[in-house]
Amino acid sequence: MTNPESDTDVLIVGAGPGGTAAALMAASLQLRTVLVEAAHIGGKLCTIDAVENVAGNWSSGTQLAAALVADLEWLRGQRRCSLIQARAVAVSGFDDRVEVTLTDGTVLTAGAAVVATGVGSLSVVDTEWATAPDDFDPPFLWTTSPEDLRGRTYVLGADRPLGTWLRSHAAKQFHLHVIVPPGDAYKAAEVADDDRLHILPVEQVDITRSAHGDPWRIEVTGKDHQRVTYATRNVLNNLGSKPEALNGLQIDRAGYCPTERQHKRIRVAGDLRSARFQRIATAQGSGAEAVLSLFYDNLEHIGQRE
Ligand SMILES: Cc1cc2nc3c(=O)[nH]c(=O)nc-3n(C[C@H](O)[C@H](O)[C@H](O)COP(=O)(O)OP(=O)(O)OC[C@H]3O[C@@H](n4cnc5c(N)ncnc54)[C@H](O)[C@@H]3O)c2cc1C
Repeated sequence: MTNPESDTDVLIVGAGPGGTAAALMAASLQLRTVLVEAAHIGGKLCTIDAVENVAGNWSSGTQLAAALVADLEWLRGQRRCSLIQARAVAVSGFDDRVEVTLTDGTVLTAGAAVVATGVGSLSVVDTEWATAPDDFDPPFLWTTSPEDLRGRTYVLGADRPLGTWLRSHAAKQFHLHVIVPPGDAYKAAEVADDDRLHILPVEQVDITRSAHGDPWRIEVTGKDHQRVTYATRNVLNNLGSKPEALNGLQIDRAGYCPTERQHKRIRVAGDLRSARFQRIATAQGSGAEAVLSLFYDNLEHIGQRE
């Protein structure tokens, strides 16, 4: 099913900081723009309590997300961008156009596309260093507040939200046991000075359900191959993230989508590009740059009017 209404200059998938920056840049270049967003404008910003590395004196992600909502409302009011609230499943590049397919089968067409769908959360089954029963589904660290912590709490993984979470609760006292696989050691080093953390470097973790007392048994194999078992009812997920690639994108070995590997009419912005540059400021910069590079490539059917 093709939707002729959607035929536009640039389709942008994902309205986090990457996609919204792309939409603002496209509007400034007089490009007709359609933004496709599955959930909330602002993306991950809506979940970040404390921010300290974004220019403009922003102190929280939610504050910045509210400003982006206002930016987009203004663009939409001026008919310089429209928003489709839907989930995209695939993107395809052709000589003269791109197509983005939504979950209901609708096919949107445009001269070009910017995909900024970010990353999703890992669970234990996605790791090579941990095992757990199928029903093991701990809450995320970053959706938990220190007041929710009861008794000894283990955090699985030392991904970067840990640092943000510690800064968000800088004045709070608590104690967390952070289980750190080898791949997260460099991230644990960034927060190792915080005396509210007890860092546990591990090679392997096996989680099983216990019939009595605390429900989870966490068997940890350390670097010295010694095994230690802890019993607890409190485990939090901080394992990290995996790319939310659309079908049709070219992916690298880690599942990321470097923009230079894509069709000439498709650019990738934000966290989806690489595990290395996952920051708000780089998402915004890459979103704006994606649109500029499409514009200056002078591709047919982008920005030309009768
Ligand atoms: C807890 C936490 C704390 C953080 N703290 C900081 C910090 O302090 N400083 C910092 O610089 N960075 C921080 N980050 C990282 C930062 O949030 C990301 O780098 C940034 O949000 C990436 O922007 P993005 O636009 O690439 O993706 P996202 O913000 O993830 O936005 C992607 C958007 O795409 C939408 N989407 C996904 N799939 C589809 C689909 N198939 N169809 C349609 N829409 C789709 C999503 O709903 C979402 O709105 C933090 C991240 C987390 C999780």
